[in-house]
Amino acid sequence: MTYLDYQATTPLAPEAREEMLRWMDGPEGTGFGNPHSPHRMGRQAAAAIEAARDHVAALCPPGGQVIFTGSATEAINLAMRGAPGKGRIAVSAIEHAAVHDTAEALGRAQVLNVAADGQCNPSQDLPDDVSLVCVMQVNNEIGTVQPTAAWHRRAEESGALYLCDAVQAFGKQPVAAADMIAISAHKLHGPKGVGALWVREGISLEPIITGGGQEQGLRSGTLSPALIAGFGAAARLAAERMDEDAAHVEALWNRALELFDGWTVNGSSSARWHGNLNIRRDGLDVARLMSECRNVMFSAGSACASGSGRPSHVLRAIGLSDAEAKSSIRLGFGRYTAIDDLEAAARAIISAADSQG
Ligand code: PLP
Repeated sequence: MTYLDYQATTPLAPEAREEMLRWMDGPEGTGFGNPHSPHRMGRQAAAAIEAARDHVAALCPPGGQVIFTGSATEAINLAMRGAPGKGRIAVSAIEHAAVHDTAEALGRAQVLNVAADGQCNPSQDLPDDVSLVCVMQVNNEIGTVQPTAAWHRRAEESGALYLCDAVQAFGKQPVAAADMIAISAHKLHGPKGVGALWVREGISLEPIITGGGQEQGLRSGTLSPALIAGFGAAARLAAERMDEDAAHVEALWNRALELFDGWTVNGSSSARWHGNLNIRRDGLDVARLMSECRNVMFSAGSACASGSGRPSHVLRAIGLSDAEAKSSIRLGFGRYTAIDDLEAAARAIISAADSQG
């Protein structure tokens, strides 16, 4: 079985798993303490959380704080619902549903245009009463990278805050300054069920979850030392290996492009995270292809999330016809993808596609 769905989730790093076990079992079973308890077991668990916070913060811009949440979706909701100012929320047409649907649910969404190459140009008009701008760093469907520093400046000039959904970028490439940054552990070889919102100093948010007042009153609820320690270990590892991982991804991308010669890449090939290959071939029956390549874990490019059945708003936003979107697939690879496995999987996909005629 070959796993080529790195945008959906990434394999857990052995180092993260090891760290998690420490806080599930621990020496003589002492790892399970409540990090909010004042006794020794509690204080040890709290210290592990603070060490993890430092590792996550080390990948964030200076001058802010990391608030742990249960997912990036929750971090995004905290940012969007808790930010001061209740004007329009400008969201790029290719934002993840966590951003897009939250802006819609608040009844304040204003969609920003995205060009055929997958770029959201910061010189476009913003509404006069904009209070928040949301433009993601790396798109989860097509991998295109946005000019986040320019968007941050643009938001500032308009008197708005800037939220960057950095879920697909964090730990893979540097993250530029923003007002708020949303992150998810499971996209950087950490565990599922834990995320974070980085908030720039001086921004005061309203909590969306109230209760015991954890996380400086911004996110009540007992923190999970095991999940957070795993997140911290994954962030530490990502910082250590960022260049090495990026070089490996580059080699995988170049080989994949050679193998998929003749297929069309959806979105820019250059302003893109190269661990995302979203490609199409005229007339391809993707459902049939997926059923014939059951040993390769990849995603239909036309669905906004694997298995969701919801049509891709991203491929539509970059101008693809329904037929083009339906003939698209997404292959995602990274740190633990062996080049031989990628080659074998690509050959299986290409041979199944060729047999469709
Ligand atoms: N934003 C992007 C770009 C994503 O890819 C995802 C997950 O697919 C999310 C947000 C949501 O992350 P989580 O699974 O932690 O809620």
